[in-house]
Amino acid sequence: MDSTSPASTEDLLATMHKYWGYEQFRPLQREAMESVLEDRDSVVVMPTGGGKSLCYQVPALCKPGVAVIASPLISLMKDQVDALTACGIRAACINSTVTPAERRSIAADIRSGDTKLVYLAPERLLSDRTLDFLSSVDVSFFAIDESHCISEWGHDFRPEYRMMRMLKDRFPGVGIHAYTATATQRVRSDIAQQLGLVNPEMLVGSFDRPNLVYRIQRRKDRFAQIQEIVSRHANESGIVYCIRRTDVESIAQQLNDVGIKALPYHAGLSDEERQKHQEDFIQERADVVVATVAFGMGIDKSNVRYVVHAGMPKSLESYQQESGRAGRDGLEAECVLLYSSGDLVTWKRMLGDLPDTAQQAAFHSLEALDHFCIGTECRHKMLVSYFGQDLGEAECEACDVCLGTVDLVEDGLILGQKILSCIVRTGERFGADHNAKVLCGSRDKRVLELGHDELSTYGLLQDQSIRAVRTWIEQLAGQRFLAKTGEFNVLKITESGRQLLRGEVTPKLTKPDGDAEDKPKRKRKGDDWEGVDRGLFESLRSLRREKAEEAGIPAYIVFGDSSLREMARHRPSTIESFRLIKGVGDKKCQDYGEAFTKHIANYCQAEGVEVDALETEVIAAPRREAPKNQSPKLKDAFTLFAKGKTVDEVAAIIERANSTVQGYLEQFIKEQKIDDPTAWVTGETARRIEAAIEECGLRALRPVYEHLGEEVTYEEIRIVVACLQNRESP
Ligand code: ADP
Repeated sequence: MDSTSPASTEDLLATMHKYWGYEQFRPLQREAMESVLEDRDSVVVMPTGGGKSLCYQVPALCKPGVAVIASPLISLMKDQVDALTACGIRAACINSTVTPAERRSIAADIRSGDTKLVYLAPERLLSDRTLDFLSSVDVSFFAIDESHCISEWGHDFRPEYRMMRMLKDRFPGVGIHAYTATATQRVRSDIAQQLGLVNPEMLVGSFDRPNLVYRIQRRKDRFAQIQEIVSRHANESGIVYCIRRTDVESIAQQLNDVGIKALPYHAGLSDEERQKHQEDFIQERADVVVATVAFGMGIDKSNVRYVVHAGMPKSLESYQQESGRAGRDGLEAECVLLYSSGDLVTWKRMLGDLPDTAQQAAFHSLEALDHFCIGTECRHKMLVSYFGQDLGEAECEACDVCLGTVDLVEDGLILGQKILSCIVRTGERFGADHNAKVLCGSRDKRVLELGHDELSTYGLLQDQSIRAVRTWIEQLAGQRFLAKTGEFNVLKITESGRQLLRGEVTPKLTKPDGDAEDKPKRKRKGDDWEGVDRGLFESLRSLRREKAEEAGIPAYIVFGDSSLREMARHRPSTIESFRLIKGVGDKKCQDYGEAFTKHIANYCQAEGVEVDALETEVIAAPRREAPKNQSPKLKDAFTLFAKGKTVDEVAAIIERANSTVQGYLEQFIKEQKIDDPTAWVTGETARRIEAAIEECGLRALRPVYEHLGEEVTYEEIRIVVACLQNRESP
């Protein structure tokens, strides 16, 4: 880059591609980077995994001087410096682990202009010594990471952050840029004000994390539910959060007892134990950590594929933060919250010692979370609306509600009408408790005193528990059929509620505890595993682990999961095609290209899988759609059928519905001219079907099916027919 003229957007893109191997900006990255180039102060709010670090790292390379990053946690600083170094960028952090000699060498590198980014904790940044040093060098800009810590309205207030406002006075004209994942309007303005930012650019991204699939389940058999989730994610990294240490210990133990390596993490362990468990998790020597909420603060692991809450968190802010540790790499990840109303009581007890106002705020947060758990609206929409954003009408396809896996009562309309009628009969003058008691036919003193046992709606839901009816009332309020008014949350019917009474709309009400059935889960569109050779992916993971151990850095810094999946999808066997993989920049290509391409070539040869599955120009943008009859899934299915796998096995491996895979099999039989069905149907069944076809002819399958007393499946008949047709064709 020409150092005399200011950098442009093209320079930003070229730098991002050279060092990180990324070709496109994520939402708001371009705007955020441009404001750094222009020295215009900014406040950037992006969700976790949105790509905040690149917003200051890329322009730091495009501007003369050194960028100074204030960051609160030593481990995060180290992680960032490791990641930058792996991309071939000179960066350093100065903290208590750095020796005086190292500090002198870092200072020399900054003076010479070699080091482009330096990370410091706010306290150190503001020490006289550091400020004097920085005044003597060329500071390109300041970046304030986790900047919500500056605001007492934020959830992590740190008074030392407040002192940073002196930066504006000491370094006039140098841009200051604040970054955070969670900030309400109030926190945002507070950040700008506290830092003394001048006419800052406010860039606020969507808080939604579309790659996270949220599920909320009633806690029935806690361990069985956790085991089911963990087993579904075999060989993948995940975190199980618990409220109490004792739960951490017992769940970790139970998982180990069933052969799943899980490590506990809580404040009762020694520092060394905690450190070791965290490192084992980061280096992928263990897949599961069972922890209290203290875990995760200081790690940036990008490929956590699931987060389970074995108990309810204490607020939606905490839930967003803890669940947000999943899927930072943008690939699909699952967040399951196991909910029980007893958790509310546990938390209230634990928060009971807080001073009055703080307690009120804490209880308020708990209640918001309780509504989230029992609600039947899209989880994504509920979460972002809590943070003041609107996701519009479209279904998210990434939560249990929109995926249709929440168990709803069948007669929601009638149930809703019964509840609303009761609220009308009691004069819209009471809250949820009282109405629930009337509906359940309670002999409560007040119900009798008011004569509400005389109402036609008294005892209308006497088969149900008061708790179930209360939950339905909350759900009706959540769907705006009811409004809670005044100090006592008196229930009033809304306009939508009147429509419900007229039978024009149906509410979504969940089955009460214990009635829930496990419904098959619908699969999302946009499969992150599309075309990925799973076997190759797993073996690349081992190679990545080896390389990480050699270099002493976390595995995900070598390559993220999305790069690994792309490698296992496109199977590049040359350095040129390897460089085209997203996440492979010049340095990583140089450091790892040879080992990875050799590994891929060896694997593909041993497994009989094609290398360079897509032509290089297809990997590079602009992407072309693969022709339909050669979709990667179909190809994978064909390879597996050739190895003698059954429809069920193939469906599980390539993650497609059995019906789709059955279609693939028939196509395979036809294209490969296979005339013997016995790889997929027993010899005996094949003979019976052939005899029946002879008897009934082949105009339709139903007569054959009925002729055989419905003892074989349509799928088996179709396979035999496909093979018979090959015998008949010339
Ligand atoms: P945040 O700090 O907002 O949580 P990160 O900066 O850690 O997010 O970025 C999350 C992941 O996304 C990282 O693996 C990062 O390399 C990757 N990433 C960032 N920007 C891009 C981009 N433009 N294209 C592809 N991947 C990106």
